[in-house]
Amino acid sequence: MSNIRELRCVLCGGSYLPEALEYVCPDCGEVGTLDVLYDYGRLRAQLDRDGLVACTAEGMWRWRDLLPLEAEARVPPLQVGDTPLLAAPRLARELGLRALWLKDEGRNPTASLKDRASAMVAARALQCGRKVLATASTGNAAAALAGVCAATPELDAIIFVPASAPVAKIAQLLVYGARVLLLDASYDEAFDLCFRISLEEDWYCRNTGINPYTTEGKKTAAFEIAAQLGWEMPDAAVVSVGDGSIIGGLHKGFRELRTLGWIEREPRLIGVQAEGSSALVQAARQGIGAAAMRAQPASTIADSISAGLPRDRARALRAVERTYGAWVSVPDEAILAAIPRLAQASGVFAEPAAAAALAGLEEAIARGHLSRDGSVVLLVTGNGLKDVAAARRSVGAVLPVAPDPAVIRMALRERVA
Ligand SMILES: [Zn+2]
Repeated sequence: MSNIRELRCVLCGGSYLPEALEYVCPDCGEVGTLDVLYDYGRLRAQLDRDGLVACTAEGMWRWRDLLPLEAEARVPPLQVGDTPLLAAPRLARELGLRALWLKDEGRNPTASLKDRASAMVAARALQCGRKVLATASTGNAAAALAGVCAATPELDAIIFVPASAPVAKIAQLLVYGARVLLLDASYDEAFDLCFRISLEEDWYCRNTGINPYTTEGKKTAAFEIAAQLGWEMPDAAVVSVGDGSIIGGLHKGFRELRTLGWIEREPRLIGVQAEGSSALVQAARQGIGAAAMRAQPASTIADSISAGLPRDRARALRAVERTYGAWVSVPDEAILAAIPRLAQASGVFAEPAAAAALAGLEEAIARGHLSRDGSVVLLVTGNGLKDVAAARRSVGAVLPVAPDPAVIRMALRERVA
């Protein structure tokens, strides 16, 4: 018996039984993504926060009492979650912050936070007897689904991905043995095709926003942050935003912890978009609601956050609004510059979309959205090895050196200078 009480439309508040609906609100259509809600009164009475932290389950499954799983449900065997929360005092000092932590999600098995969502959807598939999972993705969600399915013999992955995705992400998909469709199309087009064909073929569609359970996986990052900080919340969490489901997932996680009485306040959520893909920033500034947003062209070096019509837009706008957060956008040059800045100040190598959060943190401080003596968690959503070409661009060219000691010493002197 599942512990879900209801599915509730983020937009109209319509309530549905989990058995009645698989994807989105029938009244609102695709913009009406669904919150998975539980009997929080019962959970509050039954669960103890430190007991969950101390339990023997690994990674995100230590939170399984707060996830949409039956008591004995199987989960994929890869260890997802339990990623480090690293203090970054040097970077904090440089930015004038009192404290800064980096949640290094690049340490997940396929090197991005999307592993949490794909593992959750795969666990749902196992529970519901679904065999074929399909997703559209800019790369990371697909790699995550391909990896999780490779580790779970009953499950097959079909991937719709733009041919323009970084080569490392495409290589991951192929190496994991997923059925890969490299489409001469944008992410938004791939998304629509994947959903349509999934419905026709009766595949289980993992598409972000469409599938309500991706958020349930992503919220476990918020649970971990809270536990790692001893349940004392930072002033803000800064996260880059494409479709909006990571920021929406964090919000749901923090909100549930407050509902359970395990934290006293939720951090403000600062959403960071690339200037070339900033539909949510524009909508928030112009006061346009999620239902009125229309697709627009999107282009940025940070492929993971390139989305012309963010699919979880209602949840993303709500996350920032309800936490009294802020939206900022940053140009690609600032995103590229943030890659070596983050790496050299902390040892964490981020892909462009993840480094965008650092560029956005600086922008939020400059615009007065964050006070200089505040405490902040920066979500590093994916590893830098996902997009080595962008990383190389961020540090410029280095010429080869002749294998001669005198030349080597001269070259080192020049590089120190
Ligand atoms: Zn609705």
